[in-house]
Amino acid sequence: MYALSYGRLTSAAMDPIEKKPLFHYMPGSQVLSISTAGCTFACQFCQNFEISQRRKVEEGYTRPEDVVRMALSADADGITGTYNEPTTQIEYLIDVMKGARRAGLFTTWVSDGYMTPDAVEALAPHLDAITVDFKGNANEQFYRKYIYVPSPAPIFEAIEELHRRHVHVEVTNLVVPVPEGSDPSDVRKMAEFILDLQGDDATFHLLAFHPDYKMLNVPPTPRETLLKMYHIALDVGIKYVYIGNMWDDKYETTYCPGCRAPLVVRHIFGVKRNVLNGDRCPHCGARVPIVI
Ligand SMILES: [Zn+2]
Repeated sequence: MYALSYGRLTSAAMDPIEKKPLFHYMPGSQVLSISTAGCTFACQFCQNFEISQRRKVEEGYTRPEDVVRMALSADADGITGTYNEPTTQIEYLIDVMKGARRAGLFTTWVSDGYMTPDAVEALAPHLDAITVDFKGNANEQFYRKYIYVPSPAPIFEAIEELHRRHVHVEVTNLVVPVPEGSDPSDVRKMAEFILDLQGDDATFHLLAFHPDYKMLNVPPTPRETLLKMYHIALDVGIKYVYIGNMWDDKYETTYCPGCRAPLVVRHIFGVKRNVLNGDRCPHCGARVPIVI
């Protein structure tokens, strides 16, 4: 068997790292984002369904070294596998990431996390940071009904394995306002899992759903639903909880764990203000777990 998607890029674009979202890894940096076609999921609400649910990849071939060259000429700080599920082109991305590292660039992925321990073992040595996207509060019935996947359990295992292999992991969760996708007890379970794994460094991103693809009849996630989940995650003990797609700076800001001063203020996928002194709060000296 060989990968038909190898080097067949459907897009290559520059993005702020905050758009992934990675908030605790190289804030303010720019990444070259690349994708091919296909996915391991069939999310009925996918925002990129034109590429994720395609079965044919007809684009021309781009050599791994040309992706690195493209990133360097665009002044990128890193290269990201995103837009479609990067495991569909893991062989190619590993070759790209090797070249990226040699050229002094960092490497990140945005993934559904549905990968085997063997895939993590192949990937981790070349990957600096990853956003793992849960959907519908990691509820099993939600995964069966709206994603056509039997269980989210392998994702939790993959996150543990990535963490164990020293990849910087930030977990996101798309809150979908259907009964299976917005149960508060599921958010509590996810938050407890993240806190157990990452402790004081734990981050958790809650994302608002927008109707797309075959779920145009489901409304956007109400603000009060997101705020409820946000407070559950804080109650569990996660110090850095964020809300995405709600466009309220207050919930995209990193606050000092010691004195609560706003340290990194973000606004629409960018950093508006960053007063960090290295990885320390300039006011009280507390350490903030942000890789810079
Ligand atoms: Zn402080």
